[in-house]
Parts: sequence; C-alpha cells; structure tokens
Amino acid sequence: MWRFKLSKNNYEKLKALVRDREGYISRAREYFNIIGELPPAYGGQIHHVEWRSHGGGDREDNLILLSFQLHDRVHSASRKERKELEAKFLSYLSCGEVEKWRSEHREELEALYRVAEEEMEKKKRNGCLPKKPKWAAF
Ligand SMILES: [Zn+2]
Repeated sequence: MWRFKLSKNNYEKLKALVRDREGYISRAREYFNIIGELPPAYGGQIHHVEWRSHGGGDREDNLILLSFQLHDRVHSASRKERKELEAKFLSYLSCGEVEKWRSEHREELEALYRVAEEEMEKKKRNGCLPKKPKWAAF
C-alpha cells in the first residue's frame, strides 16, 4: 500500500515544524485542555494519528507530539481507549489555534509536500507504483 511519505530529510523538517506548533503557549493551552497534559517541552515523540502501518501519511495534520508515556499508552491501549485518545488528538489538530498556525505555515508545509508529490508522480510514470492498492485488486 502506498502512503504519503516524505524523504528522511523533509520528514525531519516536518517533525521540527510539529514541535514548533506544539511549543507555543496558546496551542499548548489547547493541547492541555483537550488532551489533559501539556505537550512535552523537551523530548517526547512524534506520533502518526493514523498509523503509518495503516497508511497514515507524513502530513502535519496527521502528526502530533506526545510524551513518551502517552505515546506508549496509545500504542498499547485497548481499541476503545485508543479511539478515545485519537478523537482527542483530532480535536486538537482541528482547533482554532492549530488552524491558525497551519495557515501561517501553509507555504512551508506545501513546499515539503510538493517534493513528495513530485516523487510520487515520477514513480508512477516509471511504473514503480501499483495502479490500484492491493486490496482493490478485485
Ligand atoms: Zn506512534
């Protein structure tokens, strides 16, 4: 299955942007209100809300900075608890403060996405990508 994937370098840049997004007081407040803890000021890990293994893309609106403890919890939670946490993450990712940040960083984000899209187009032209995902073969 193909997923939206940035180059290693650009993914590092995107992760730095997500850290910057969570690092500011007005968004940290929203994060706290919705998720129940502050985003980690140092360390922590970037999580794909829709998991990479489920085709979740390297896009800013699918990424969130979590403490090690919370990240561990998401990946070991029961399905029900995971769904609850994911609903909170999505609600944070679509809150006004994050939307504002997103529009302020639109050009920067689109520049990163464009490279990945061009790569994909190139692969398609060279026939390196299946026309349909495997599960849609029949
Ligand atoms: Zn994760």
